[in-house]
Amino acid sequence: MPKVTRRTVFTGAAVAALAGSATVADAEAPARNMATPGIYRYKVGDYELTAIYDGIWYRPIADKFIVNAPFAEVEQALDQAFMPHDKLATPFTTLIVNTGKRVVLLDTGTGGQVAPSAGVFRNNLAAAGIDPREVDTIVISHFHPDHINGIKDKDNALIFPRAEIMVPAPEWAYWMDDANLNVAPADLKITFLNQRRIFSDIAKQVTQFEPGKEVAPGIVTVPAPGHTPGHTVFAVHSGDQSLLVLSDTAQHPAVFARHPDWQAVFDIDGAEAVATRKKLFDRAAADRMLVTGYHFPFPACGHLIKTATGYEHVPVEWQTAP
Ligand SMILES: [Zn+2]
Repeated sequence: MPKVTRRTVFTGAAVAALAGSATVADAEAPARNMATPGIYRYKVGDYELTAIYDGIWYRPIADKFIVNAPFAEVEQALDQAFMPHDKLATPFTTLIVNTGKRVVLLDTGTGGQVAPSAGVFRNNLAAAGIDPREVDTIVISHFHPDHINGIKDKDNALIFPRAEIMVPAPEWAYWMDDANLNVAPADLKITFLNQRRIFSDIAKQVTQFEPGKEVAPGIVTVPAPGHTPGHTVFAVHSGDQSLLVLSDTAQHPAVFARHPDWQAVFDIDGAEAVATRKKLFDRAAADRMLVTGYHFPFPACGHLIKTATGYEHVPVEWQTAP
């Protein structure tokens, strides 16, 4: 029998035979057409962490998206990351920290109220084997809707009925101030009103913390202003291991880690956001810290290395068991 090479396989009778068998196979192999669970479990010391994917939003962008760089440079960065020019991939990943005594949720996802392509948090939480009633504490990084809307469902009912909700005091002070609401541009007013929808009737369940405080054993909050005035990141410590939870210090790393000086239109104070980003990224790179970013590609954790012009995010290797 002659040797079968790739070339002979894809010619003549061999192709016809393959095509014939493919028809039979198609009939017997229906596509599943259902999402796979977006969960990733890992350890930091004795703590068990579960990254829970909530979906993705393709944020429309245009020439004013980066306020301090020409759009041609932004388009080049998007090209290099295989991303389209007119939208920014904005995935959402929340984090459960199980200390062994308490279940803490860092940010709550979109609640299915930000984009049709997001809102799978609750399905994935169930796939992770976690009941919403198990969550003891919710800690919020800042008050943008993709971080707080998952506190409630679309009918305004609490998704985590037992949880204490902890929020940064400077974030509460800024957004819940009606004087700031009254002078806000129209699109930002929507954000202010959304916060009132989420928080007004549950204010008794909300505890404010000063960034810098420990909010649960081993979970230390760190002030990271700029993106919003009270924007906060978290350091999770257990044993001799640590994780830095970067919240929205940078959105997609292919854009904002590689170009740390870029100020996005959604940052309340762009210059401060850049200073915060560089300070935290420098520390994470120097200390070789494990980091996670709320808008980094799932499972959103990895490391940062410093390059000649910025930083590069190196994703973790997927592991099947924590
Ligand atoms: Zn965000």
